[in-house]
Amino acid sequence: MQRILITGGAGFIGSHLCEKLLNEGNEVISLDNYFTGNKNNIRHLHANPYFEMVRHDITRDFYAEVDQIYNLACPASPVHYQYNPIKTIKTSVMGSINVLGLAKRMRAKVLQASTSEVYGDPEVHPQVEAYWGNVNPIGIRSCYDEGKRCAETLFMDYHRQNRVRIKIVRIFNTYGPRMQPDDGRVVSNFIIQALQNKDITIYGDGSQTRSFQYVDDLVNGIVKFMDTPDEFTGPVNIGNPDEFTIKQLAELVIRLTGTQSKIIYKPLPENDPLQRKPDISLIKSIIDWEPTIQLEDGLKETISYFKNVLKL
Ligand code: NAD
Ligand code: UDP
Repeated sequence: MQRILITGGAGFIGSHLCEKLLNEGNEVISLDNYFTGNKNNIRHLHANPYFEMVRHDITRDFYAEVDQIYNLACPASPVHYQYNPIKTIKTSVMGSINVLGLAKRMRAKVLQASTSEVYGDPEVHPQVEAYWGNVNPIGIRSCYDEGKRCAETLFMDYHRQNRVRIKIVRIFNTYGPRMQPDDGRVVSNFIIQALQNKDITIYGDGSQTRSFQYVDDLVNGIVKFMDTPDEFTGPVNIGNPDEFTIKQLAELVIRLTGTQSKIIYKPLPENDPLQRKPDISLIKSIIDWEPTIQLEDGLKETISYFKNVLKL
């Protein structure tokens, strides 16, 4: 049994991770300030004596005796990370310093939830880890992109300078149950709009691409990667390489929900990446993992989750 701290434990991905690590017989502490997370995501875990919830902001120090840390605290949806951009970058940078300091004191292993956004609007396709990216340092997405890039730097420097045991995973677009209905990301937006027979809002002409990973595939991958020997620090990409245009996603959601909704087009936000698809050969060479859930199957699960949330 390991004692594991999950920052952002009440969020979409964090809540699935809490559940999996408890099921595997560990003691889990969820740390969250509930900015974009929700206690309802982890309410079903309360009765477990090996689970603890702590309300805390990771931009402040935190002390606990732990063996492992998964650092997920950070708003992930463009709408939410742009709401208070200074806070977003503080969360990535000061949050990383705080979890790395804790890992150093405790000799704990620490995993950073980095992102495909470190590649910005990529000129290399599909994205490989060796690509340094094409990020605008002063745009409206920079608070997130540059915050996550700086977090990777801090992880590597604590590793090189202080021998902290680190893991960095670059997560590509992930979706599934427990995304917040007002999250603003494309999968939840399209499903909610379709279930309410409202217009489906495509930003731009819908030709931009993303590669969507179901949350169970992600969580299986990051837990396996955490358990690799110390020499495998990453960064590694983790995502589903099946690439779709946003228009294709809208059409699939329309078919699966049987909605009357019509597609409407809105302006493409500034610096919105035109294409995104992970090269996952590196992680596959390290662990026995690959995504197993097709977009259509994952969407069906997510649609039925949102039907419950909306009481339809
Ligand atoms: P989420 O918004 O549901 O979860 C983030 C959690 O962090 C929330 O519970 C929020 O309340 C908490 N949080 C935010 N700021 C905090 C702070 N200062 N102190 C303590 N807690 C704080 O988003 P998610 O999709 O679950 O993302 C989790 C992590 O994975 C994030 O770090 C995100 O950048 C990363 N990621 C997610 C995706 C994706 O597609 N979902 C892709 C790439 C990277
Ligand atoms: N998008 C869209 N309609 C929406 C929400 C998002 O067309 O209602 C587009 C967005 O412009 C981007 C893609 O869908 O091109 C994915 O957006 P999301 O916010 O989910 O994540 P990103 O990968 O951009 O961080």
